[in-house]
Amino acid sequence: MSSITKLVRPNIAALSPYSTARDEYGGPIGIFMDANESPYQNGYNRYPHPDQQAQIKARLGAIKGVPAANIFLGNGSDEAIDLIFRIFCVPGKDNAVIMTPSYGMYGVAAAINDIAVRPVQLGSDFSLDTCALLKACDEDTKVIFLCSPNNPSGNAFPQEQLLDICNRFGGIVVVDEAYVDFSGKGSLAHEAVRRDNLIVLQTLSKARAMAGLRVGMAISSEEIIRLMSMVKYPYNLSRAAMEKALEFLGQDIDTKVDTIIKERARLTAELPRYSFVKKVFPSDANFLLVKVDDANALYSYLLEKGIIVRNRSRVTGCEGCIRVTVGLPEENDALILALNNYERV
Ligand code: PMP
Repeated sequence: MSSITKLVRPNIAALSPYSTARDEYGGPIGIFMDANESPYQNGYNRYPHPDQQAQIKARLGAIKGVPAANIFLGNGSDEAIDLIFRIFCVPGKDNAVIMTPSYGMYGVAAAINDIAVRPVQLGSDFSLDTCALLKACDEDTKVIFLCSPNNPSGNAFPQEQLLDICNRFGGIVVVDEAYVDFSGKGSLAHEAVRRDNLIVLQTLSKARAMAGLRVGMAISSEEIIRLMSMVKYPYNLSRAAMEKALEFLGQDIDTKVDTIIKERARLTAELPRYSFVKKVFPSDANFLLVKVDDANALYSYLLEKGIIVRNRSRVTGCEGCIRVTVGLPEENDALILALNNYERV
């Protein structure tokens, strides 16, 4: 038994997954009388064909430099987060260690699955204390969730630190790299392929501009990918979403990502000039966490101007902060103009 097999919930290890006759047949054309679909063609009357996921995985594998067999596709990376709890954590018994502040869905998915969360507070500069993290783990800790670059703080953690945690923890380590394309610090995707306890999450929702399609991915060992594929809904991505995703994956994103990174630098330089801005935290992502005098007042003012930012001031560690997503250059101009007027009020 591999060390990972021991971490899998017994009911999942024993699962016979739902299988479809279409998987067995595989061919694109035939008289399909197996799945109770409508026979009237409109492009979407059939369930998605398994080839569609295979094509996207092949394309993503080439882009990310990892084998297609090490990629799981989910209905957003949110689906992968939920599946990780369902595969590894026994409800009402096991727990997950989650750094905080971080992406809210880890805690929500844990609560839905009745998994206790052990939060580990990041430092005032949002640095991660490896010893505190490992100290928070006990024999029922199955998963550690790390997010790099982290949402909402924006900072990426050193790769050596993340790998050190993987080396020292006996359970599953998830590194959520939703914002990795905006970071110069690189991805751990290659490491996830060759290790047995690392799952890297990425998404088409951010730099690849496909949030509306809901396509995310997990990159991990073939064994973990097999478990995730077994537990997911049989047709977790729609035909329409996969068609569009494949089309958009043919487009180059470098210029757009470069512009967002330049605009991030511009806002990072501009925002501290305002008297009401106390700190702009360094960001490796496509957003900035900004500490201000009165986050509630600024949030309401911007909302009135039709500029919607995220008020994070009630999140522990983010008191007084708003989170601003970097927009188009002209949208960032509009933000700056509104802030100029706010300064004068
Ligand atoms: N991880 C992080 C850190 C995020 O911020 C988000 C979305 N805001 C997600 C995952 C979810 O992404 P997806 O659209 O792929 O579900």
